[in-house]
Amino acid sequence: MAEHDNEHLGTGTRLVGAGRRAAWTGTAEHPGAVVNPPVYRASTHLYPDMAALRAHPANVDGNFYYGRRGAPTQWALAEALTALEPSAEGTVLYPSGVAAIMGALLTVLRPGDVLLMTDNAYEPSRAMGRGLLKDFGVETRWFDPLDVAAFEAAICDRTKAVLLEAPGSLTMEVCDVPALAAAAKARGVTVVIDNTWASPLGFPALERGADITVMSLTKHVGGHSDAMMGSASAGPEWYRKLRLRAQGLGNVVSPDDAALMLRGLRTMGLRLAQETASVLAIAEWLERRSEVARVLCPMMPGSPGHDLWKRDFTGGCGLFSFVLKGGTSASRDGLIDALTLFGIGFSWGGFESLATPVDPAAIRTASAWPLPGMDGADKFGVRLSIGLEDTADLIADLDRALAVWSAAA
Ligand SMILES: *Cc1c(COP(=O)(O)O)cnc(C)c1O
Repeated sequence: MAEHDNEHLGTGTRLVGAGRRAAWTGTAEHPGAVVNPPVYRASTHLYPDMAALRAHPANVDGNFYYGRRGAPTQWALAEALTALEPSAEGTVLYPSGVAAIMGALLTVLRPGDVLLMTDNAYEPSRAMGRGLLKDFGVETRWFDPLDVAAFEAAICDRTKAVLLEAPGSLTMEVCDVPALAAAAKARGVTVVIDNTWASPLGFPALERGADITVMSLTKHVGGHSDAMMGSASAGPEWYRKLRLRAQGLGNVVSPDDAALMLRGLRTMGLRLAQETASVLAIAEWLERRSEVARVLCPMMPGSPGHDLWKRDFTGGCGLFSFVLKGGTSASRDGLIDALTLFGIGFSWGGFESLATPVDPAAIRTASAWPLPGMDGADKFGVRLSIGLEDTADLIADLDRALAVWSAAA
């Protein structure tokens, strides 16, 4: 296959071709001989002679060098992710999404700096602010993702980075990324975004104002609930710095996991489209149910930030939440237990559906729960990750579980 500039190609075509350089999918005699890059289980790269070792450019992307700096299996994945991310110069791989977020923040922040973090951030990101970043002299302050003016007012001379998530974890509010990014940039603040929900297929984060975009590849890219990884993509300046910092931290991903991620990536577009269609049907059905107070799904009118989602996003996925009308924590747990087609588990983005409880009040510090406009009694939520099962079966399962919940309430 010829290597070419892929920017004019459609997403599906890029998902198929990205990262499949002929040099990585064959031998010198037979470049491009196989479809996928082989799994190079390599700590050690051998040089034919001393002249080759001396001539070897130490830190050039795409090369063998030493295992920690990657082999073609990992380079193919990094290159594929870069090809899918408009305006990216390169992508760094990390052993998990959490490692990617921390790797990005440790690239930008120094002792004495202030980090602004969206109040609906993924809880382990919040824990970084309370824990490791604090221990190393960085102060984290949280802000209401729906209040751009409050965010601007919160920027001080020591603010060096902001961590965004759109939509946020659990409660799914979509913030105004372009407006927040413009306000940050006007004050020299670097914008890091956790783009796991949308992926570049649904939200071209660098083109919307982010400096560094991070994903947990564990979710949509892997797509099969069998491997963990993270990535950070950026333009030329931040990409180089990210790479150096990741090397300094000793971040490395296994070639076997990189191959699983490449396999998942090829079908990601199909899976996201199917999940999105299924979510639209399920969310609409839930909105008509008397047991449900609120559906928190960026793709549905009435969900916080839906207009921004419509303006800025090009796609969705299978993850959303809903809030029950009254009830108790125990009756909500009973509803989740009554589901038979949804696993109970904290991940998402796999081919199988999952359900988890939503209790944001305990972790929020800068914004309200229940959300403004909601009844105070409506606070027990359920987050669903919709997989590839038939939509009608999932709705029937939810129907049964809501009946169990009603009987208990
Ligand atoms: C799961 C998740 C992460 C962390 O990813 P891991 O690969 O589990 O470390 C980061 N951000 C969001 C929004 C997530 O849902």
